[in-house]
Formats: sequence, structure tokens, C-alpha cells
Amino acid sequence: MMRLNLFEFYGHFCARYALEVLVCFVTMVVAAITLNVSSPYELCHWATNCVSKSSSESEISSDIVLLTLLRCGTILYVYMQLKKLWRIGSVIIVAIICSYTVFAVMTFSIAILHFLRKDLVIVSNALPVFLLLIDVSRMVIVTQHCLSMKSIDLLHEYIAEAMSALSPMATLDTLIEILVLVNIGAFVQIHQIQQLTCFACLSVIINYIVFTTFVPACLSVLLTLINKTPTDVTLVPSWHDVRFKKILQNEKHRHVSILPNHVKLILCAGLLTLQVVKYSRLTSNVKETSGSLQNSFDSLLSLNPEQFFTLILILILVSKYLLDDGYEIVSRLRRHSDTCMDSKASCPDIESKLSHSEEKIESLSDEQSCSSLLPRSFEDCLRLLKVGSDLLTNREIISLVEKNKLALYKLESELRDANRAVLLRREIFSKKMRDVKRREALQRIPHIGYDFTNATKACCENTVGYIPVPVGVVGPLLLNGKEYRVPMATTEGTLLASTNRGLKALYLSGGVKGHVYRDGMSRAPVVAFPSTERCCEMSDWLQDFYNFNLVKEKFDETSRFGKLKSISPVVSGRLLFVRFVATTGDAMGMNMVSKGAENALRWLQQTFTDMEVISLSGNFCTDKKPSAINWIEGRGKSVVCEAVLPAKVVKKVLKTDAAGLVRLSHCKNLIGSAMSGSIGGFNAHAANIVTAMFIATGQDPAQNVVSSNCLTNLELSRSQDGDDGEMNDPSLLVTCTMPSLEVATVGGGSTLDPQRACLGLLGIAGASASDKPGANSTQLAKIICATVLAGELSLLAALNSGDLVQSHMKHNRLPKGTKPDTDHSIL
Ligand code: NAP
Repeated sequence: MMRLNLFEFYGHFCARYALEVLVCFVTMVVAAITLNVSSPYELCHWATNCVSKSSSESEISSDIVLLTLLRCGTILYVYMQLKKLWRIGSVIIVAIICSYTVFAVMTFSIAILHFLRKDLVIVSNALPVFLLLIDVSRMVIVTQHCLSMKSIDLLHEYIAEAMSALSPMATLDTLIEILVLVNIGAFVQIHQIQQLTCFACLSVIINYIVFTTFVPACLSVLLTLINKTPTDVTLVPSWHDVRFKKILQNEKHRHVSILPNHVKLILCAGLLTLQVVKYSRLTSNVKETSGSLQNSFDSLLSLNPEQFFTLILILILVSKYLLDDGYEIVSRLRRHSDTCMDSKASCPDIESKLSHSEEKIESLSDEQSCSSLLPRSFEDCLRLLKVGSDLLTNREIISLVEKNKLALYKLESELRDANRAVLLRREIFSKKMRDVKRREALQRIPHIGYDFTNATKACCENTVGYIPVPVGVVGPLLLNGKEYRVPMATTEGTLLASTNRGLKALYLSGGVKGHVYRDGMSRAPVVAFPSTERCCEMSDWLQDFYNFNLVKEKFDETSRFGKLKSISPVVSGRLLFVRFVATTGDAMGMNMVSKGAENALRWLQQTFTDMEVISLSGNFCTDKKPSAINWIEGRGKSVVCEAVLPAKVVKKVLKTDAAGLVRLSHCKNLIGSAMSGSIGGFNAHAANIVTAMFIATGQDPAQNVVSSNCLTNLELSRSQDGDDGEMNDPSLLVTCTMPSLEVATVGGGSTLDPQRACLGLLGIAGASASDKPGANSTQLAKIICATVLAGELSLLAALNSGDLVQSHMKHNRLPKGTKPDTDHSIL
């Protein structure tokens, strides 16, 4: 952990003081050219038996072969590396690698010339070794990681994070490489090989130093310069590349899986031991070596003015870092790591219960929380939120809400991630609840495995989850010669079983015939005038055919599908109720008609300047309330269905007789409802089927009030088995008239995926063909009415045969001794 922080510090430091580091680095390299240090070592000094004698002819020819091979290998390697870079397809990466290579080659050459005291010929021989060992892959990863950031504001943190992740591996690899090379050089007594290993050793060291220092600084400068708007954090940097989002994570996994770190450490220890053994054997050379070391130490102490100046520069930079920012960064880091630990400790329960998708969200935030170095101010968080919510941790977003910097209801739109918004809202509500039981109750509302994107956009605000309602299928329903499997969502046992029985009886009887005889959604604003006279004037004006067309023009311009059919003005004192009725295609049409009515009223106000619009809805529409007007005038689709059931089907399937059913329906549906003063309730239980189908297919469930208006009529019919005139065994004629079915296959809940799937089951999801607008919703209305007819038949039959209570006891109650399931394993 400490080691990671050290590298993180170093990476952060180099990125933060990029210019200073670069200047210092270049100064040191350039200063090295004039460095007055005579190398205390011979080229192969570490290889104690290195023979540096004048070469024989055979040695020269072997040199040529070796060098040729080396150069060919280098060309091949460089070509392959370039191809790799080319495939990544990023100009920035290529630019950074090129500048890195140039700089590293320069440093290497200088090192050979001055530290090893060699000439340019040797440099040209050594360069292939260096190029072969240059490892650009880590640099590419650091650069890619930085390119994945969404805000230039995080540049230093990203560089530090990458350095923190890659430097330990680089350190270990460098150590191993050096030890391997030293061992090879020490054990192989061939002059050329020793010389090559010596170059290789130097290459590895220079590679490492340049990677850990030059790369972060260079990246910081280049990316800041390339970004066109470096100071505006609300804009995504011009170089942002989403492809590299997980590059660092993948690299960590890859590296660990190739050769685990502990194996590398063991390898290091082994190689080191070999060297120690070798060293102890050659005691005679030790004195010589220590003497050389002493010489070199002495020479290093005798600094010339340039060296002295460089040293002072380094000391100033180090002290500036330590005094100015070092302390601050250390303390911030400490605070931050505390926060990370705290955040993990605070919600272990919730995390353990999250499913895969939520775990992803959590782990993402944890990752960010721990990767972002400094706690950010609310202002920074809000600015970052505009760039992308994934730049903020869950903890930061919750703090923004708690400090009223972000509205709870706006979570979805601000985060642009509905599922994360739902998760956080639950967390926020949960934190506010003191009562543990209520908190637990909230946790039991399911939210996993549901895509809230559409639901939170158009169907539900302040979402914390969803309520699953069991859905079943009944059928086949035979309607106008076509078969349908009908989805119904309900919690009332027996409903589907009963409806299914009715459908079976209808199927065996040749099916149902259904028709829509009227179509029009209504909206009735209420307006006021200074006098009753003015009210009547406007009422007359609206009923004029020419004027109607003027209003229609205004109404119709608000929608492609909402087309005004009629206007019914009704006067009440100085109030005027204007009932606009329009066809609405496949939409239920409430929003559509409201929009059209509003536009029409706005236009009417230019003619009737004394008109005061009291409300866009004056309850004369009438929406979601029982009313006679819908029963009489209709609303949405007005549908009628009929079926004739032979006596034997009535007997066999419904276990009753036609005459008994007719009498029951007369007494119950007609006289009973009339006696209760019902409006539109002349049926047995139309609302049951309407509501279950509404829930399944995403209709507005509250509209079951008006949509369940239904008159069920049963009559004895002439028998179909040839007994003409004789009514001994008559058939049963059933009709259901539903004047106000408010249904849609477009808009509202019908757009949600599961509901849309139920509509898909019926073959009527979404908009119908453009030449038949409304065909799907009309078909849905007929299917609902036909299914209602089946439900009516079955319930009346159960009542007539006295089966009602028995079947409810069987299908609508949990078996004795069964407790409601409290194992909330879904969470
Ligand atoms: P909507 O979703 O508001 O409007 C339907 C949209 O679908 C319109 O933009 C329409 O285009 C478009 N569309 C595409 N193809 C279509 C097609 N074949 N047929 C019809 N429209 C098509 O739906 P709505 O039916 O007007 O309103 C239903 C919603 O209103 C429900 O969520 C319901 O709960 C809610 N509601 C509102 C009120 C209220 O007072 N406003 C009352 C009760 C319920 P255009 O833009 O060209 O029209």
C-alpha cells in the first residue's frame, strides 16, 4: 500500500510540475555531456574477467555477424511496434511514443559517451540493443488511460493513477532484467556478449528512469496543450477516447495473470544470490572494486559549477514540493483514503445484496472514489456532473442532494443514468428513515433487473423501484375469425380461470364478433363570460360549420394524429363547457387532445376577448370519474361485441342453462344496477377484465373508471340445431356494449418494454401502418370488449350455478396453514 502511494506521489508530482521536471531532466542530461566524471569502471568492470584486448580477426568477423543479426532483429522489432501503434489509431499516442523514443535514445547515447567513455562507433553498435529493449507498451497504456478521461481537470489524477498502477510492475521488471543481464555478463566469458549485456543493462535503467519521470511530465504538457479549452472542465477534452475506458484495469489483470509478482520476487532473490556467491568467490577483486568505488565517490564530490547549479536546482524543486504542496497532498490523500474506507464500511449490507448490474455501478463508484485523489468541492462536482455523472462517486452525488445542490427529483435527468438514479434515491430515502422496519420495507421494493430509462422519462417520477404484478394468459379468444392469447395482470385469483372458461365456451360457439362504432377522445375546458348572453353567443358561434372548421384548423395543427371531430358547447349560467372530441390514432389521446384544445382556446381568445379560461379541464370531458356523458356520448373507442352460444355449450362448459342466465342477467345487470342508480355499470364485472388487461398492456389504470362502462345483455336465441321455432333448448345471445374504452398502443405505459411485449403478444404493439392510423388501438378495444364478454358469461354462470364462493375459496385464498412468503430472496 505504501509502495503504491509512493509511486502515486511521484507520478502526481511529475504531472503537476511537468515543466519543471522536463527542464530539470533535460538540464541533467545536457549537463551530463559536460560532466567531469571519469568513469571509474571499465566497460565490463562488473564482469571481473572481462577481456578488453585488441580483437583478433575471428573476433571481428563474429562481431559483424552478431551486429548484423542484432540490427536486423531491431528493425523487425521496431517495425512490429510501429504496426501495433498504427492499429491503435491515435495521433497523440504516436506523438508521445516518438518524443519518448527520441528523448530516450538521446539519453542513452549520452550515457554511453560519457559514463562508459566510449566513442560514436560504439554508440551506433549499442543503439540496436537499446531499441530492442525499449518497452513502449506501458507508455501506451498510460497514454490510453489519460485519453479516456472526460475532463482535463482530472489529468493529474489520471496520470498519477496510471503511474501508481504500472510503476511497481516496471520497477520489479527492471530489477529482474538487470539481474538477469548481470548474471549473463558474469557467467559468459565472451567479450562481445559481455559488452552487449552491459549496453542492455544501461538500456533497461535508462528506460525505467525515462518511463517513471519523462512520461508523466510529457503527457501532462502535451495533453494540456492539445486540448483546445484547457480551462473549461464542462467540456469534454478534444482527445477524449471512450475506447480506452478500461485499459488500466485490463492491464493490471493481464500482468498479474502472466507472471504473478511473488514469482518475480523469488526470481530476483535467486539471481541476487547467484551474484553474491560469485562475488564472494572473487575476493581478490573486491579491494580493487572498492578502490574504484572510492575513486568514483571522490570524483563525484569534486563538482564543477554546472553540476553544482544542477544540484541546487534539484534541491530547490524538492524543497518547494515538500514545503508547499507535499504536506497538503499527503494530508488530503490521508483524508481521501479514510473516506474510501468509510464509504465501503457504511453500506456493506446493501452492496452484498446488489445484483450484477448494481454491483457494476457500485464498483465503478468505489473505483472512482478511490482513484480520484482529492475530495472535490460542490462546485467542482456540479461542473463535473455536466460532463458525465460517472465522474462522480455515489457518495458525492448523495452529498449534493443532501446539501440541496441537486434536486432529488432531478436525479435521472442530471445523472443521465436512470438505474443509478433509482439506486441513489433509495439510498437517500433510506438514510432519512429512522425506523428500521420502514427502511427494510423500502429495501424490499424490487428494483433489480429493470431498465428504468423509459419509465422514469415518461411514466413515473421519484422512482424507487417497481411493483411486479403477476401476468397470465387466457385464450384462445376467437374474435372476428382470428385467434388471440390474451394477457391479463392481476392479483385476484379465479379471474383468469373464470375468463378462460368463458373464452372456451365462446370458442366452441364459433367465436365473437366485435365492432368499433364510434371513436373520439374528449377534453372539455370551462370558460367564463361577463354575461350569459356572451356565453350563448360563443356557443352558437362554435356550432356553425364554417367556424368549426376554423377551430379545427387550429386544433389539428398540434398533432399528426389528433384530428378534431366535433365540438359540443354546453352552457351553465355564465360558464361555457366546450367539449372537444378528436380521433387520436393509436394513442389514447389525453395529452394530444389537451394540447389541441389549448391551442384552439388560445386562438378563440382573439375573437372572444372577454372570455376567461377557467380550466383546460372542466370535468365535462370526463376523465377518470363516473359520468353520464361518457356513457351516452362515448369516450375513446365505443365497442360492441356479440356471440351466440348453443345450449349444449352453455350446459357443457358453463354448467348452466341459457334461460337461467338470461333471467339472472336481467335481474342483476339491468334491474339491480338501475335500482342502485348506476351509470354504465350494467354488467357483472367488466372492470375486472378491463383493469387486468390495462395493467398488462400499459394502459392508464385509472381510466378503468370510465373504460369499464359496459352493458351486458343476454337473450334467448333461436336454436341453431334445426328445431326452428321451438324454444325448448334455446341458444344464448350475449352482447357487451362498451361506449368508452380509453385505450392505446402508442404513448404512456404502452411504451414500456414488458407492457409492449403484452401488446406484441396480441400482434398490435406500437403504431399501426401509416395508411390506417388507429388500427392497432381499435383492435385492442375490440379484444378487451370480447374478453369482457367471456368474463361476463363465466361469472354469471358461476352465480347461476352457485359456484362463485366455492371457486373463490379454491383459487383466491392461500391454502390453510400457508403464510405469506417473507423470504425476500429477490433482494
Ligand atoms: P402521448 O404519448 O402524450 O402522445 C402520443 C405521441 O405519439 C404523440 O407525440 C404522437 O405524435 C405520437 N404518435 C406516433 N405514432 C402515433 C400513432 N400511430 N397514433 C397516435 N400517436 C402517434 O399520448 P397521449 O395518448 O396523447 O396521452 C397519453 C398519456 O397521457 C398517458 O401517459 C396518460 O397517462 C396521460 N394522461 C394525460 C392526461 C392529461 O390531462 N393530459 C389525463 C390522463 C392521462 P404527434 O406528436 O404528432 O401527436
